[in-house]
Amino acid sequence: MSQIFVLDTTKRALNPVHPGGAHLLLKQGKAAIDRRYPFTIILKRAVEHPALKALRVKVDPGSQTTGLAVVNDASGEVVWAAELVHRGKQIKRDLSRRRAVRRSRRQRKTRYRQPRFANRRKKQGMLPPSLESRVCNAVTWVRRLLRLCPVAAISQELVRFDMQALENPDIEGVEYQQGTLAGYEVREYVLLKWQHQCAYCDAHEVPLELDHVEARSKHGSNRVSNLVAACTPCNQRKSNQDIRDFLADDPERLVRILAQVKTPLRDAAAVNATGFALHDRLMRLGLPVECGSGGRTKYNRETQGLPKSHWLDAACVEASTPEHLDARGVVPLHIRATGHSSRQTCRMDRYGFPRTGPKQAKRVKGFQTGDLVRALVPKGTKQGRYVSRVAVRTSGSFNLTTQHRTVQGISHRFCTLIARSDGYSYQQGKERVLPSVDLSADGSPHPGF
Ligand SMILES: [Zn+2]
Repeated sequence: MSQIFVLDTTKRALNPVHPGGAHLLLKQGKAAIDRRYPFTIILKRAVEHPALKALRVKVDPGSQTTGLAVVNDASGEVVWAAELVHRGKQIKRDLSRRRAVRRSRRQRKTRYRQPRFANRRKKQGMLPPSLESRVCNAVTWVRRLLRLCPVAAISQELVRFDMQALENPDIEGVEYQQGTLAGYEVREYVLLKWQHQCAYCDAHEVPLELDHVEARSKHGSNRVSNLVAACTPCNQRKSNQDIRDFLADDPERLVRILAQVKTPLRDAAAVNATGFALHDRLMRLGLPVECGSGGRTKYNRETQGLPKSHWLDAACVEASTPEHLDARGVVPLHIRATGHSSRQTCRMDRYGFPRTGPKQAKRVKGFQTGDLVRALVPKGTKQGRYVSRVAVRTSGSFNLTTQHRTVQGISHRFCTLIARSDGYSYQQGKERVLPSVDLSADGSPHPGF
């Protein structure tokens, strides 16, 4: 069951509690809501010597979505989970757009300028902005969790493959089929190397098997350099034939496959680049950071019979994973990185000319675009109760974005702040909490519990 974070009045993180317990504390007036996302309550007293359970924050970084989980290693309970969607693509698109507009502006009706080149410098270890944002998002959330619950350690999936396990003859050799990781590393590695396609017929999105180029029955080895990914029909058709006979009528493919089996996947390290940057920054938080490989995560998840999802992958990272992970009733919080606001001073048309006046103050009457507000409109055509994201206007008459439409012209006087915009939007489980609307005049307020 997803639990609720608890702080004492000095903002010290205490053990998370069951939602029922939190509800009772709120009802009895012993606590107040500290923040909505993730839901956190704050006690109205200081707790002198709390008996804290050591929790572990686990991160499974992905290119689009990062899984986050807080796990109690002792009891095997998943205390909290989330899936964080990054905005790398959006950043890339915005930067390309800015570049195009600037270029056209420079080239338009201007004096001749000498082309400039080689006048940019990159700092050592710099990541492109789209990847940097991905790393920053993950670090932000780990830091937030450190403030909200008693965390003693961090686990991170660092690499897709444990390169050492691949080099280790016990795993690479004959015994990889019997060892603990039972070929998980090898399998993942070979699938990536062959781009999840059948080497013989290019079929993809079909179940793939590992095929031995030189058949096992002919004493072919289990080394990675003797393995290709193949679909079941191709694997069966090839059987124990020599690859030269099997591909006799497709010499081009034969040459390609023979060259590819010999070359290692050189960019395995490049695939892992952002992982190492994240690892570096997590290390600076001052807690022990445990690192694992994707193969190990998959092994842990499958032996526990858990379905594939980003947050469950995060909960299954590395050796610290409890033998019986209790993820019953956990509803992950869906977090989407939205960024803060635009840095452009005004909006442009598609030719790069200013389309609007300069940007006005960010805050209007104490509200800012992106804040979650509750609006109670007592009368008129827009009468009702709304809970949604607000877009401010300097006139003080705001727009509310609900799930189905945008309601314009809601006065700031009817709005109450629920949560400040913090660069992320949230959605709990399948239900879309933000933005949402409850139009019934006496309906119970969304969200919350
Ligand atoms: Zn095939």
